[in-house]
Amino acid sequence: MRLRIRNRLRRVYYIDDRSNETASERNAMKHGNRHVLTAMSALVLLIFGSRSAAGERSAGMSFARTMIAVDAVVDASLDDWHAFYKVCHENPELSLQEKESAERLARHFRKLGIDTTENVGGHGVVGVLKNGKGPTVLIRGDMDALPIVEETGLPFASRKTAKLPDGHTVGIMHACGHDMHQTVLAATAQTLAATKSDWKGTIVFVAQPAEEIGVGARAMIEDGLFTRFPKPDYCIALHVSHEQPSGAVGWTSGWVYANVDSVDITVHGVGGHGAYPHGTVDPVVAAAQIITALQTIVSRRLNPLDRAVVTVGSVHAGSKHNIIPETATLQLTVRSFTDEVRKEVLDSIRRIAIHTARAMGCPKDPEVVVRSDEFTPASYNDPELTATAAEVFRQLLGEKQVAERPPSMGGEDFGRFAKAAGVPGFMFQLGVVEPKRYAASQQEGGEPNPTVHSSKFQTDAIPTIRTGVRCMTALALTLLNGD
Ligand SMILES: [Zn+2]
Ligand SMILES: [Zn+2]
Repeated sequence: MRLRIRNRLRRVYYIDDRSNETASERNAMKHGNRHVLTAMSALVLLIFGSRSAAGERSAGMSFARTMIAVDAVVDASLDDWHAFYKVCHENPELSLQEKESAERLARHFRKLGIDTTENVGGHGVVGVLKNGKGPTVLIRGDMDALPIVEETGLPFASRKTAKLPDGHTVGIMHACGHDMHQTVLAATAQTLAATKSDWKGTIVFVAQPAEEIGVGARAMIEDGLFTRFPKPDYCIALHVSHEQPSGAVGWTSGWVYANVDSVDITVHGVGGHGAYPHGTVDPVVAAAQIITALQTIVSRRLNPLDRAVVTVGSVHAGSKHNIIPETATLQLTVRSFTDEVRKEVLDSIRRIAIHTARAMGCPKDPEVVVRSDEFTPASYNDPELTATAAEVFRQLLGEKQVAERPPSMGGEDFGRFAKAAGVPGFMFQLGVVEPKRYAASQQEGGEPNPTVHSSKFQTDAIPTIRTGVRCMTALALTLLNGD
């Protein structure tokens, strides 16, 4: 079925390169005849290939016509969506506290006539838009922000703070772009609701909480996302990228985000005076040996063509210079892609920790705890769905604005949805950096762009929203009309 979609799309070129237009250009357009300009800029070009069947040709034409209708909605609503984005940005909420964000999206869905359910797996919101018989497409956007004091200097920068469990107060900031994800989700709901005569099927809009702590997707699934609501045939999403300019998107086929495991190791020794080590078993030295030995897992145990990371991010032991403590604790983050490599790495960590401690004469084996509550499974972009999406994006944005990107060792719990539903999933990258700034950063010695999770992270909002909603809508339409 999906192969047919791709063949059909190949025959219609629909290119629009206004993603990087300036504010004054947009204003000029606002005062002109928007509809005519939209139709003109949306160049419906060649339908090529003598083999193309009449049915495919008309399907391609109707896709192009639908995108002209979508672009009319985009042009008419972009200022509203920008305002929505600024409200999201100014009012970030930490993981598990996304109450206002969820209410804002639920209100928006209801206004569009979407059947909306709140409090699914915490603050999750599910909006179901049914429109006859056809495939079901799940579109996900996440809502939570990070405990970071914003330093962007934007007029709508967040001034919000929150109290952490340890009592100290931190700033809150949308430093991972989940404000953009909410905006594109809201905007996509609007374009698809406005073009219902052009597609058949069901769309499940998922506003997900608590992505940053890796629990939101699981909570929504456990609260009946696939039993209380229509089960998807495809799951799609996007994530902002500081590595691409606004107006551009990126795709990765296959593994795109890694398995994330957190592991705690407690090494047991025999404490005593630092001047008399022979009367002790020093857990600090044993832990140091373990840390070094762990680095042989990736370099010696794994096939060099497999990818994994073992990082010891925290080491705690002792209280004073001259006391050998009883225990030493290590905290690890472990990254992998496949189930096999994950198992090999986790088994190796356990083996190395236990046997190194034995070799060092520790009185009992260390505890090695893989924290299953914090596990985030790897995200897999279905290769066929990815190829379909990349083709749609190229036709929409032009070849130059669509780039293949390498996989990331970062984590993203979006992968849970497709895995749990047993259907193809796809997450693409949405460039956010103002193009001139991006070009400058690529020069030798150029200033690097602030990364996601940085206090200075920001987006070139209007072209980013525009590109995000156009790509997401076009992909959803392609999948919905694929049957
Ligand atoms: Zn993040
Ligand atoms: Zn994120």
